[in-house]
Amino acid sequence: MEFTYQAYRDMLNLLREQQYAFRQYHNYADCPRCVILRHDIDNSLEQAVNLAQVEAEAGVASTYFVLLRTDFYNIASSAGLRAVRRIQSLGHEIGLHFDETACESSGTIPECIIKECGQLSALLETEVSSVSMHRPSRMTLDADFQIPGIINSYDRTFFRDFKYLSDSRRNWREPVLDIIRSGGYERLHILTHAFWYHNTEQTLEETVRAFICSASLQRYRQMADNITDLASIMREEELSCASPKS
Ligand SMILES: [Zn+2]
Repeated sequence: MEFTYQAYRDMLNLLREQQYAFRQYHNYADCPRCVILRHDIDNSLEQAVNLAQVEAEAGVASTYFVLLRTDFYNIASSAGLRAVRRIQSLGHEIGLHFDETACESSGTIPECIIKECGQLSALLETEVSSVSMHRPSRMTLDADFQIPGIINSYDRTFFRDFKYLSDSRRNWREPVLDIIRSGGYERLHILTHAFWYHNTEQTLEETVRAFICSASLQRYRQMADNITDLASIMREEELSCASPKS
């Protein structure tokens, strides 16, 4: 499967052809044959918005998990909030993508998750009641945390009762399209990272390089918004990295 929006659309169509109902973590229980689409937003809210748009056009609702504590994006900024609200307005749910390394030592991991869900809910003015783990430790994976009022997408249910498929590190470890086409599993749990998808196919290296390079241009424009006559100090053309392909 290519990492393009068209290939993703084709995957959604295939799921539909195979009679999978698109469900979310809160509403799959009554559905014998369903798929839960999960998206972890590790790096770029903008690319998450793009994929959310693709899904909305296909009539599909999924769940986007956002990091509260990351240096890659800021969901409390006006641009960050706008992006998250756009995803919500397209019919998707927002969950917490939880980075356990940011959990202060005084609290347990479930306590940290409850606290961050509360903070995210307050920020979005929407109840946030699902969580996925960002780079979980072995201990967290084994713990199978049950958290009151919050659905843990790492709950054993979503691995035992579902066929789990993931494109982590831009690599489907199993042939995702063949598995969908086979129709052999009643329930599917599919994790994708919007970061890897573009209009045209890009390799892992191209994607990562373009993302890193785009940061200097982004920083330049942030600086221009905060200092008078930046061009007299440094011109945009002096930035050494090329802007990313879209
Ligand atoms: Zn992650």
